[in-house]
Amino acid sequence: MANHKSNTHIQYRGRFAPSPSGPLHFGSLVAALGSWVDARANKGEWLVRIEDIDPPREVKGAIDDILISLEMFGLNWDQEILYQSSRLDDYQAILEQLINDGLVYRCICTRKEIKASGGIYQNTCRALNISEDLEHSLRLKVINPDLEFTDCFQGRCKTKSGVAHEDFILKRKDGLFAYMLAVVLDDVHQQISHVIRGSDLIDTTIQQINLFKALNKNHPIYGHLPVAVDRHGLKLSKQNHAQAVMTGAENVSEILHQCLEFLKQSPPNELKSESKEVILSWATQHWRPDNFKDTFQIVHNK
Ligand code: GLU
Repeated sequence: MANHKSNTHIQYRGRFAPSPSGPLHFGSLVAALGSWVDARANKGEWLVRIEDIDPPREVKGAIDDILISLEMFGLNWDQEILYQSSRLDDYQAILEQLINDGLVYRCICTRKEIKASGGIYQNTCRALNISEDLEHSLRLKVINPDLEFTDCFQGRCKTKSGVAHEDFILKRKDGLFAYMLAVVLDDVHQQISHVIRGSDLIDTTIQQINLFKALNKNHPIYGHLPVAVDRHGLKLSKQNHAQAVMTGAENVSEILHQCLEFLKQSPPNELKSESKEVILSWATQHWRPDNFKDTFQIVHNK
């Protein structure tokens, strides 16, 4: 069983935090399953948080689709679901606190300009004192950042050069709170001890750790699972229309089995014909995250 020994004094609380931009697909089911099993194998709680702070990207019906799929696969959650759309006042209050601490500045750079200069923001507006009359985003002044972190599955992780030093957006030009701010504030708010998620988010981890630091809070333990990519190396995602896993009850067991195989857990063949409860209980008892150490991507054609 995975037991993150150095942290046995911490009550384990994990979470799955989907954005409602489409139904669950194989890749997001793997992330949900991996975080659920890790929580249960460590006798922890597992919460669901709906990250619905980006209305333009929200797909109608996706929240229900995601929750129905989780239930269908037996991934039961603890506590009430938290909807980020109910947390906007708190985000604003903490943003103002960061502004008062001199840790936020206005930026007028466009995505196109940043892309043209290599894709990582060069903190151009930090020294410019941009007028509030111009349409602007708000960025965190990242001071003295951590450059590495220890992943509970993958070991020591360095980030792509420049990422840790990048002053990232907390509030967008369109007035919406950025994912980075909301995710960190909610991991604090919900006292999340373990963030277990797909490796597609690994580059954001060091930035999130640095926001925790700016807020004077301890960050959770992070663990990154392999992500499913297509044969061109593209992540299976709602954006590239990966097939949803909404399915008739008859192949739930088969799909769970496939997810465990994907996570290199070597589930026995006979499990395929067992109930989801039996499969999940087997997965919890035999959870071996070491099996996917150093594996960040796996080609999956479904
Ligand atoms: N809401 C993010 C997504 O659906 C995941 C956030 C996280 O796990 O930190 O990609």
